[in-house]
Amino acid sequence: MLYFKCEKCGACCQIITGITDLEEYDLGNGRCRMLGTDNLCTIYGSRPGVCKQDYVYKHFFPYIDSELFVKQMKRICLRLREERIKGACDERL
Ligand code: SF4
Ligand code: SF4
Repeated sequence: MLYFKCEKCGACCQIITGITDLEEYDLGNGRCRMLGTDNLCTIYGSRPGVCKQDYVYKHFFPYIDSELFVKQMKRICLRLREERIKGACDERL
């Protein structure tokens, strides 16, 4: 499978509300309690399957072409990063 480079911004770890497998990690505001102040996962080596690209593909989207799946993941990631940058700019206004 292809992979895309995670820039480690932590954005996707701050919108976990509604993800059943991550319910126990939600601080109540969508932020994962396992996300460090440096925006890195503090349990990266033992993070839940749903946090792993391979797992998500195999368990939820096995009927989609893997390259298309990765493309979609990249698009979502880029969108989240753009929103995050925009949010940071809005806070400064
Ligand atoms: S939003 Fe993208 S760059 Fe940021 S942590 Fe998630 S996968 Fe990595
Ligand atoms: S367990 Fe780690 S990778 Fe998964 S949402 Fe929490 S901080 Fe992110």
